[in-house]
Amino acid sequence: MHVPGMAFDNQRSGAKGPLRRLATRVPGARSRQRARAAVARPPSDPDVGAGRTPTRPDPVLRWRDPSRAPAGAFAPCAVPNGQLRVHGIPDHTGTWDAVASFCLSYDGYAYWDDVSELATRSIRNWTRAHALPDSIDEVRACLFYEQRRWHHFGEEPNGRGAQYVWALLESLRNLVAARAVPTAPPADAAEPRCVFVTTPGPVRSFLDDDAGYLAWVSSHSGGFVVNADRTLSPNSLMLHRATCSCIGGPARPGRTRTGHYRKVCAADLESLVDWCRMDIGVDPGCCGHCHPWSPSSPG
Ligand SMILES: [Zn+2]
Repeated sequence: MHVPGMAFDNQRSGAKGPLRRLATRVPGARSRQRARAAVARPPSDPDVGAGRTPTRPDPVLRWRDPSRAPAGAFAPCAVPNGQLRVHGIPDHTGTWDAVASFCLSYDGYAYWDDVSELATRSIRNWTRAHALPDSIDEVRACLFYEQRRWHHFGEEPNGRGAQYVWALLESLRNLVAARAVPTAPPADAAEPRCVFVTTPGPVRSFLDDDAGYLAWVSSHSGGFVVNADRTLSPNSLMLHRATCSCIGGPARPGRTRTGHYRKVCAADLESLVDWCRMDIGVDPGCCGHCHPWSPSSPG
C-alpha cells in the first residue's frame, strides 16, 4: 500500500528499529513476550493460519452502541462511531498532535476486553503481509493503542511505526466512506448526532471494484456519481451524472475506473450531496460536461 509522506516520519530509524522498540515496550509481560516473538519471527513463519492456537483468547468487542461512547477516562473527547465522518479523520497533512488527539477519541480499553492483544495481532499481520483489520472498531482500537504506546515512549512515531499509523488512518477513511450511510442529523442539533441504518444506505462507494461500479451504473442510468481520490480529499470531489462519458464505461486496457479514484454513487442527487456534506464536509464540484444540477440530461 502506498503511504504518503508524513510529517512525523523523520526517516532516521531503520526498518526494524521502531517496530522492535514498539513491540518490546508493550506494557505487560505476556504481551511483551508475544510481541517480541512476533517481530523476531520471519515473514515466512509457517504457523500463520496453520491451526496454531493463540495463547490468548480472541479479543471481544464489549461496547457496540454506535451512537454513544462508553464511560471512562477518555469519554470527554470521545467520538462514537456513529458520529465519525471522513473529514474528521486526519490525513497525511495532519500533525502527530492532531493524529494523537483523534486516536484518543476512541477508548480502546473501554470498547475491548483485550485491546493489547488486538493491537499486537494487528501489528503482526501488518509486519508480515501489510494486512490491516477490516472493521472500524478494530482499526480505531489499534490507533488508540498506537497513541498510548508512543505516548509511553515520549516520541512521535517514525519509520515503519509511522507508516503503520498512516495506513490505519487511510484504512479507516475507506471503511467510514464505504459503510451504511447514517441518517441526517436534526438541523437544529448543537452536536452532530445520527442513528445508523442497518440496511445498506442509498449511497454506494466503489474502490478497486470496476465490475461492481459498472454494474451499478448500468442499472442506475438516471443516477449520480461523485468521483474522488482514494482518500476522499475534500477538493477532489466532482459530481457527475452516471451516464457522463467522463466517468462511465469500461476502462481502457491497463487502466481502471476505481483504482486511483473512488466512485461514490446514489440514485438521487440529494442523497449524494447530503453524503458529501455530512461525511466529507464540502459540496462536490460540478462536472461541466454533464451538468448534473440541470433539470434534464444534456443527452
Ligand atoms: Zn460529468
